[in-house]
Amino acid sequence: MQLLSGKAVSEVRRCEIQKRAAIFAKKQGRKAGLAVVLVGDDPASHVYVKNKIKACEEVGLASFHHPLPGNSTESAVLRLLERLNEDPGVDGLLVQLPLPRHLDSKKIINHIRADKDADGLTIENMGLLFAGQPRVSPCTPSGVMEILRHYKIKVAGQHCVVVGRSQIVGRPMAQLLLSADATVTVAHSKTPDLSSVTRMGDIVVVAAGKPRFLGVSDFKKGAVVVDVGIHRTDEGLCGDVRWDGLEGHVRAATPVPGGVGPMTITQLLENTLILAENRG
Ligand code: NDP
Repeated sequence: MQLLSGKAVSEVRRCEIQKRAAIFAKKQGRKAGLAVVLVGDDPASHVYVKNKIKACEEVGLASFHHPLPGNSTESAVLRLLERLNEDPGVDGLLVQLPLPRHLDSKKIINHIRADKDADGLTIENMGLLFAGQPRVSPCTPSGVMEILRHYKIKVAGQHCVVVGRSQIVGRPMAQLLLSADATVTVAHSKTPDLSSVTRMGDIVVVAAGKPRFLGVSDFKKGAVVVDVGIHRTDEGLCGDVRWDGLEGHVRAATPVPGGVGPMTITQLLENTLILAENRG
């Protein structure tokens, strides 16, 4: 079984991003910049934001961290976004999800100017993606595509099964695979006999958000398994896929940690740079 290391792909991609970021900075007399808005004290979100900011520094992007208290009103968040939308030093802008329950995530995300939407999650950018003309694509699914590309896993003409249909992973994942000429099946919580569906997949992308949910009997022999899930358990991090028995059965798989996770941040850096280069 081939290990599809997102960590390794990420290192290669970040070197390239660093070079492009330096060219941008030299040409424009400023670094491309990412602003991150974090509302509240969710510990996992704090870790993600810290990692995003560190990654920006490492590749030569400017980063602007905007923490807001967990009881912030919707209008306070919207006002901050309006300010960042107009800030010429901000090329990419993201709001860390999940937001506290009292805030309307859709409304807040769609307040980000589409040409600064580093996560590619606004309706405009989703529409462009689904029309086959993406400005930037959501980070996690585009990270998966980069892993497949790097390891020369053929996508065109393959049957790809995506488990999950969320706005940030499943749906855009299916669309990117479709744009790469795969035959795509999307499964979700109402799909009967999930295993019979996943067993059809030459490539199976699992993003159900359920720890160790699928195992060897859910994949056909020779399948490529991409595990998007990430869960903190008492025994450490795990994904949506159980690894026992995969060796010798599937052709390749992404580990957790070190698989899709590192690529998500790398794609965020790339998206920020693309948006900066678009703005000039
Ligand atoms: P969501 O909870 O938003 O979506 C989960 C999806 O899985 C839903 O579409 C749901 O179906 C489907 N699902 C749930 N139960 C089943 C089931 N029994 N059978 C089939 N489908 C099912 O999660 P996200 O998409 O945001 O994230 C998925 C996973 O990926 C999580 O573990 C998350 O932590 C991880 N993640 C990892 C990232 C990374 O960087 N590695 C980044 C983003 C997410 P329905 O729509 O019917 O409810």
